[in-house]
Amino acid sequence: MADRENDFQFGFDTLALHGGQTPDPVTNARAVPIYMTSSYVFDSTDHAASLFKMQGEGYVYSRNANPTNAVLEERLAKLEGGVGAFAVASGQAAISIAMLTLAKAGDELIATNALYGGTYHLFSETFQGFGVKVHFVNGTDLDEIERHINDKTKAIFTETIGNPNLEIADLKKLSDIAHRNGLPLVVDSTFTTPALLKLLEFGANIVIHSTTKFIGGHGTSIGGAIIDGGNFPWDNGSFPDFTRKKSILDNHSFVELSREKAFISKARFELGHDLGATLSPFNSWLFIQGLESLSVRVKQHVQNAKEVAAHLASHPAIEWVNYPSLPNDPQYRLAEEYVPGGAGAIFTFGIKGGLESAKTFINSLKLLSHLANVGDAKTLIIHPASTTHARLSPDQQLEAGITPELIRLSVGLEDVKDIVADIEQSLQISSPLYVQSTK
Ligand SMILES: *Cc1c(COP(=O)(O)O)cnc(C)c1O
Repeated sequence: MADRENDFQFGFDTLALHGGQTPDPVTNARAVPIYMTSSYVFDSTDHAASLFKMQGEGYVYSRNANPTNAVLEERLAKLEGGVGAFAVASGQAAISIAMLTLAKAGDELIATNALYGGTYHLFSETFQGFGVKVHFVNGTDLDEIERHINDKTKAIFTETIGNPNLEIADLKKLSDIAHRNGLPLVVDSTFTTPALLKLLEFGANIVIHSTTKFIGGHGTSIGGAIIDGGNFPWDNGSFPDFTRKKSILDNHSFVELSREKAFISKARFELGHDLGATLSPFNSWLFIQGLESLSVRVKQHVQNAKEVAAHLASHPAIEWVNYPSLPNDPQYRLAEEYVPGGAGAIFTFGIKGGLESAKTFINSLKLLSHLANVGDAKTLIIHPASTTHARLSPDQQLEAGITPELIRLSVGLEDVKDIVADIEQSLQISSPLYVQSTK
């Protein structure tokens, strides 16, 4: 893959613009070209045969790999400090492929219980049907995690900042428990991105992104990525499928053939190939545009979020605000430890007047968009209990910290005064503080 040998010396913002790419050798095009091709002409039958055994340089078929996707993958891997990445059709596909590369029927996984609603359902229902048991644990209760580890356990999964209760993962402790037990730590960093949190520095082994969110940044496309830290000993005895010689690999194992890239090669060559959750090169190109400005966007997202959160925290019509970067938030210390640049731009709050006021408030907004997404350049708002987390039972909702009055805000890049003004006009209509008993 086109790459400069000294890329590793570049800083984050330079890598976000140049990582994984040299200008197109045929045309000298400066921007990354979109290679809209399903397949690639082989040099010879020997060349074709070597590629089918995962040996030799070149592309076969865009379900497995594509040159535009390769730039995105290489760039993400460099931004995280990992050894390789696999870009796929969605964040959900990334989680599915990563976790099923680790666990098969009869195996078990441990996941912290403050999760994206789609992930919760994937683990509690779909994986259950596949025979993979997922134990949901309180991410702050290390004894509970330790108690659930047994000889069938294959990984610990967490989100950097849990959705939507914003629980910050204590990554050093989680990676410590995982590694003491010979397990990889898999972390969904969608809410943080490498611009705010370098997970591998805290011991994570595999990083997941829904690139749909801040990495794309403009709410245009669905995608996901798996990044391999290259820092886990897959030959430790617990992952025989990584060390087994396979006929499709010309009687080599993934560890023999790909060494520190064994995980990401296996994910691509097996489940990537078999399940076919392929990322379109066009979407990949959009994510590359997003990465170019990730760092400046995220700084502004955080700045705006801090201002809007502070405004709401002192507002008489607001019951509570949960944003770990507010100085008196109970998680402030953890936020300073893991995300000193700010705990993202997504936070929750409760409006006085409970469920009914919350609904009227959302229905009365004019600028903020009521929709199911986060990490768009535009400010987004939603009521999780009735939407994103509606598949959870009332008990599961409470366990995940989702109360009926909870509203989730993903603060965008508009002028803060305009975001605040829209919230203000809507509170005037919805809050019992202003609305006298006219109904
Ligand atoms: C959106 C999201 C996902 C799922 O990603 P898709 O791209 O929608 O499939 C997973 N985890 C988190 C934290 C998310 O916000």
